[in-house]
Amino acid sequence: MNPGDLVVEDLAVHYGGVQAVNSVSFTVGAGRCLGIIGANGAGKTSTLKALMGLVPRKVGTLRLGDRDLTKVKPKDIVRHGIGYVPEGRHVFTGLTVEKNLLLGAYLRSWKGKTQEKLAEVYEMFPVLGEMQHRLAGALSGGQQQMLAIGRALMSEPRLMLLDEPSMGLSPKLVEEILGILQRLSASGLGLLLVEQNAKLTFEATETCVVMENGRIAMTGSSVELAHDPLVRQIYLGL
Ligand code: ATP
Repeated sequence: MNPGDLVVEDLAVHYGGVQAVNSVSFTVGAGRCLGIIGANGAGKTSTLKALMGLVPRKVGTLRLGDRDLTKVKPKDIVRHGIGYVPEGRHVFTGLTVEKNLLLGAYLRSWKGKTQEKLAEVYEMFPVLGEMQHRLAGALSGGQQQMLAIGRALMSEPRLMLLDEPSMGLSPKLVEEILGILQRLSASGLGLLLVEQNAKLTFEATETCVVMENGRIAMTGSSVELAHDPLVRQIYLGL
């Protein structure tokens, strides 16, 4: 184990009688990229929400490096270095782009560092800098996705959880998101990427798990999975 690894063992989520996640275990190495693919309803979103403490869960081990996160509250999970980009972006459409970004930093008690982080986000996403005073509701879907990622970056995470960043985007914008994920990864940020878009996930990550009915059905290197005949047939439609 390296300092900074996210270790998840025996994670379970129930909604009343529905078991959405069952005995799920995986590790995201510090600065590495892990993908979770699977059909609608496989339990991917519930897994991310459970890691953030946003849904009731049972978990054997939840650790970031040597820090036990099993009893840590959601806002403190962010303080411990885990950023979250939820499905559907959830940007505040009635606030400006910059105010949305500043909300991402509100858990940090920085003096002076917020401007530095803003400048970093604008460097990564120049379009957000150009539109910093515009309402977030005026942005396109792709720009809102960049804003959601930028907002998560403002909390200076070591690991970012992303839920379906490609959802609803055109193939050209999906390519752009892939480029962004690759840049984030090259900067040393760890990524846990949940996607229905298996092609994007295989290209953006090193290792993938395939979820089915709340369980992990397969784990492998993304390159190997992308060439697995069964995976190609089911997830790539080939
Ligand atoms: P999608 O890609 O559609 O988001 P997913 O793989 O992320 O799918 P989840 O959203 O985690 O899957 O859902 C897993 C299971 O839990 C599904 O059967 C779903 O209907 C159920 N579920 C999810 N959220 C709730 C909830 N709030 N209450 C009851 N059941 C839920």
